[in-house]
Amino acid sequence: AGPLLEIDDLTLKLQVGGAELTALEHVSFSLGYGEARGLVGESGSGKSLTLRAILGLLPPNAVVTSGRMVFDGAEFDLAHGSKADARRLERLRGTGISMIFQEPSVALNPVIPVGEQIVDAVMRRDHLRRSQARDYAIHLMKLVGIHDAEHKVDAYEFELSGGLKQRVMIAAAVAGKPKLILCDEPTTALDVTVQRQILSLFTHLRDELDAGLLYVTHDLAVVAQLCDSITVLYSGNVMESSAELGSVFDDPGHPYTEALLRSTPDVDRIGRRLYSIPGSAPSLSDRPLGCPFAPRCEYRQDDCEQARVPDTSTVEGREVHCRHPVGHESGRVQLAKEAR
Ligand code: ATP
Ligand code: MG
Repeated sequence: AGPLLEIDDLTLKLQVGGAELTALEHVSFSLGYGEARGLVGESGSGKSLTLRAILGLLPPNAVVTSGRMVFDGAEFDLAHGSKADARRLERLRGTGISMIFQEPSVALNPVIPVGEQIVDAVMRRDHLRRSQARDYAIHLMKLVGIHDAEHKVDAYEFELSGGLKQRVMIAAAVAGKPKLILCDEPTTALDVTVQRQILSLFTHLRDELDAGLLYVTHDLAVVAQLCDSITVLYSGNVMESSAELGSVFDDPGHPYTEALLRSTPDVDRIGRRLYSIPGSAPSLSDRPLGCPFAPRCEYRQDDCEQARVPDTSTVEGREVHCRHPVGHESGRVQLAKEAR
């Protein structure tokens, strides 16, 4: 069997004030059944737009100009505004694919008890009687760590703390037994203790559900805890991608990945000083002609700024989109360079 999810050559433009700005460019990655992939990048790198493109829930000023998706063996054309494909995508939402948003309040209905919302999600998938679905909803609420689920099932969104809302949303997202869960930084709005609890919840759910997980975050420490594989985005371009997380952490190929690692305290190696990447990411209207990271890159050479990095080379599930990757002594990266 092929992968659970394959995104191939996704390019997305945004119409802003008469201009057409490129927000995602030739983005490709794949996710196996039961695999967790971290989609990492700074604010504005295109993480949320990538998830929205997969769900077919894009802002009205977005146009997908290229992109093919294969989900669980079914192929979708994300570009060309295909109405038929959009309808097929819509049918996947909530059952085949579900999404956990950054801000739970946008996903929960304020006038319906939270438990009912989980019940609805259960019934969309399974033909259960409502009372059975309610029992299952309570079971799910316990599974996500809501202790007095029998009472909380009748609570309204506004009666719950941020951490509880997030747990309810996760319960609703897994209620339809999705094959793929998309997560958009579900812990950023929460305090550190609750963040930790939610993260260990995900680790637990991974074992329980065997669903694929695409987890968006700017935090490499979270990826280290949760994910098997990683895709690093910068300014709408994939910088580096690997089926094996450890190889990227031990031996980053792209200077941007290396800089990100150096600026992450939890995965920083002992003896290294914490680093902060100088400068800031380019705005969409001001993207450089060449590698988008070149203006901030310590390893920049003249050819970096002249043109986009050419075709990706893949060696053992590892891609480094860079003309002058770091770690030249590493056999893996060396191979990637030669293959170009
Ligand atoms: P964050 O970590 O802050 O959530 P992100 O990686 O999720 O960032 P996206 O939301 O995917 O970033 O947005 C990518 C870029 O596109 C950003 O520069 C953002 O400002 C811009 N953008 C997103 N949606 C729109 C829109 N509807 N109209 C104009 N620009 C947009
Ligand atoms: Mg976002």
